[in-house]
Amino acid sequence: MAVQPLIILGGGLSGLAAGIRHARFGLPTVILERHRRIGGLNSYYYRHGRLFETGLHAMTNFAPRGAKSRPLNILFRQLKLSRKSFITHEQVGSEVIFPEQSLRFSNDIDLLRAEISRKFPASAAGFAGLINAVRDYDPFLPRPALSSRQRLSAFLPDSLLVDMLLWPLMVYGNSQEHDMDWSQFVIMFQALFLEGFFRPAGTIKDFLDLLLAHYLSLGGEIRLEAEARALTVQDREIKAVRLSSGEEMRADKVISTLGAPATMALLPDSLPGRSADYQGRMSFVESIFVLPAAVLKALPMRTCIFYNNHRRFDYCRPAELVDYGLGVINFPANFKGLAPHDTAQIRVTHPANYRLWRQLDSNRGGKRSSAYKAAKAEAVARCQAAAGEIIGNFPENIVYQDTFTPLTIERYSAKAQGAVYGSPLKIKDGRTNYNNLFIAGTDQGYLGIVGAMLSGVTMVNQHIL
Ligand SMILES: Cc1cc2nc3c(=O)[nH]c(=O)nc-3n(C[C@H](O)[C@H](O)[C@H](O)COP(=O)(O)OP(=O)(O)OC[C@H]3O[C@@H](n4cnc5c(N)ncnc54)[C@H](O)[C@@H]3O)c2cc1C
Repeated sequence: MAVQPLIILGGGLSGLAAGIRHARFGLPTVILERHRRIGGLNSYYYRHGRLFETGLHAMTNFAPRGAKSRPLNILFRQLKLSRKSFITHEQVGSEVIFPEQSLRFSNDIDLLRAEISRKFPASAAGFAGLINAVRDYDPFLPRPALSSRQRLSAFLPDSLLVDMLLWPLMVYGNSQEHDMDWSQFVIMFQALFLEGFFRPAGTIKDFLDLLLAHYLSLGGEIRLEAEARALTVQDREIKAVRLSSGEEMRADKVISTLGAPATMALLPDSLPGRSADYQGRMSFVESIFVLPAAVLKALPMRTCIFYNNHRRFDYCRPAELVDYGLGVINFPANFKGLAPHDTAQIRVTHPANYRLWRQLDSNRGGKRSSAYKAAKAEAVARCQAAAGEIIGNFPENIVYQDTFTPLTIERYSAKAQGAVYGSPLKIKDGRTNYNNLFIAGTDQGYLGIVGAMLSGVTMVNQHIL
């Protein structure tokens, strides 16, 4: 009988990493990707001959080459990719800005430590204890959810500091509103504050090209414009994947990187737990402004600015289309040692309400409504004004701009309701009600580019090899 392959649903970063890990052992592997292009949330597109990245602001989990036990280097070893030829550029430094206080941080935790000692002296000792607690905690053991706010208040008497530490960690990977599960907090604290931000020397396209070429060289197969429509099941086993073309592909095992809600939609029944609990609510609007590179000289030299203008910080789906009072301003050119270009980008991200954007445009496939287009144009202008208040005005210098909304995210990824960080309920062991179906990617619990890739590798190691 012919050997059935491992079928991986989704050609985003977790799917590609899972594919490489499996194909490395000469095992038959097929990745199914519904779009024409790989990358998922982290892909690219062209406008006026210019390449735009859809997800990459900054990669988290920086590790110098020699640090063997750091996730980034483990990932490269597991994928049999050369870390030596993967050139990385560290952030120049980032800042959290609230109305009452600001905090700078870099890839050296001592900067944040010093800022806290100076600005929140009552919390300095507690912050040292918090770092130890994070280092000692294994966030991947399945455990009951624990409130980060509660845990943090035991370490840090300053509630403003708690909010200021939470905001960057939440916006980089929290699917829960208002609070954050302690395991997620530990993952994100490690990824952003203890390891830090970097960029590869090239674009996300270069990185995706590298991964795809490596996967193909190992004998892996990828099918683009191949949308999985249903999983054929028998006795708690997945037997085949049915594609939108009607074709049935038999499978030995299946890894889904589509997220819990989209995976459930392919099955005759639910995943463990209540299906409603898997639906994430956090989505975002992001505007990309392209400027002459010289303009950056007059703006703050930061990699990321996480600002909050509200008197009370809350991380949640806003009551209006976009919350301009909360934002992340990202400068992809501000990494140490990047080659100079004649233009540079500023990317500004705000929490947004999927439901209200959907009300403006109920059409899921074709052309967008005029109400949606008008709201999008207004969002660009307001986003520009909001960012200008924090970093100084830049509107007259814009060469090109683009914006995407929760509906764009939903259209180009598998994330229902544009919930970038997936489900608030994570399936940490990757298991489902089916013996040979496993979840990898955002809904397994790892987040970001490095996290998604590690998830793919871990699920292959734990369940397939
Ligand atoms: C605006 C934005 C900015 C971000 N910035 C950063 C950043 O700066 N740093 C960072 O580390 N992370 C960032 N992220 C997060 C990062 O992009 C994700 O965590 C990561 O890419 C998730 O990868 P994934 O493979 O798990 O999922 P996805 O990227 O969602 O991949 C799933 C894939 O499945 C495909 N698919 C869906 N349905 C089907 C189907 N039925 N059949 C076949 N294929 C299907 C999709 O097309 C997609 O390619 C950002 C995300 C966004 C949206």
